[in-house]
Amino acid sequence: MEAAPINAQRFPLQTPCRATGSCADCKSPDTICCQFLITRFSRHKDRIKVILVDESLGF
Ligand code: SF4
Repeated sequence: MEAAPINAQRFPLQTPCRATGSCADCKSPDTICCQFLITRFSRHKDRIKVILVDESLGF
């Protein structure tokens, strides 16, 4: 995870990433990583596009 540790540092949370800047895959009561979503299928054709980029982007 790239964005979550940076985001966690904005708030007074008790998470490993807030202290270290790296994700520790925690289950802290303060975790900001609460959902993992899987889209299995879309009944609406062309609603979802997947773009693969072979470089680091974002934060
Ligand atoms: S899982 Fe925990 S340690 Fe990892 S980014 Fe989310 S809150 Fe931080």
